[in-house]
Amino acid sequence: MSYNIAIDGPAGAGKSTIAKAVAKKEKLIYVDTGAMYRAMALFMLRQAVDLQNREEIIEKCREAHITIGYDGDIQVVYLNGENVNGLLRTEETGNAASVVSSIPEVREKLLELQRSLAAGNDCIMDGRDIGTCVLPGAQLKIYLTADSLVRARRRFDELAARGEVCDLEKIRADIEERDYRDMHREVSPLKRAEDAVTVDTSKMTADEVIAEVVRLCRERHPGSE
Ligand code: C5P
Repeated sequence: MSYNIAIDGPAGAGKSTIAKAVAKKEKLIYVDTGAMYRAMALFMLRQAVDLQNREEIIEKCREAHITIGYDGDIQVVYLNGENVNGLLRTEETGNAASVVSSIPEVREKLLELQRSLAAGNDCIMDGRDIGTCVLPGAQLKIYLTADSLVRARRRFDELAARGEVCDLEKIRADIEERDYRDMHREVSPLKRAEDAVTVDTSKMTADEVIAEVVRLCRERHPGSE
């Protein structure tokens, strides 16, 4: 049986940074499910689909084939055969992903891909519904969270480092809107699994969070060191 770690939490809590570092230390593959929803969103944006129109999204999502490969330890997302990794981390695709991911037909399409990756590999998978829905049997579940202002500030610094002009208050408003949508949707809303360990990263450095998650991993999975 493969060993699976689930990391869920709101936007900007640091899930991908932490999951990537823990994957490296514990020799697991990192599965970024947000990137799959972002690829689906990119497809919709490219097709100029009206994001308010659920029927149109459902219809179009049949034409989007999303697959995953690995370049060393980097996850590569292919959208109809095209490597779209470089196009996924914008605020526009993040916000659009939050809209398309609320549609059950979109989720079903990606669920199978996520479960098959976890069944075939020891992995650390991050998202919103990994511990509650995708991998309810994961050996370790973490709910990673932080105050919304701290999360907005981290996103701001990330964008500023890439030379993008941004507004902290706007980022915070977008993050809060995205969290609200992710937490209140009918299918697979973001919520802490009952058996998840909560790690509030508001006052922790990335290294401290990584050390804590590695400690939890080793406690649950002795012999992995
Ligand atoms: O984590 P990331 O910011 O890349 O996710 C983008 C969006 O994809 C989230 O706001 C959420 O709506 C959606 N998502 C989801 N379920 C997941 C992962 C991401 O609904 N497992």
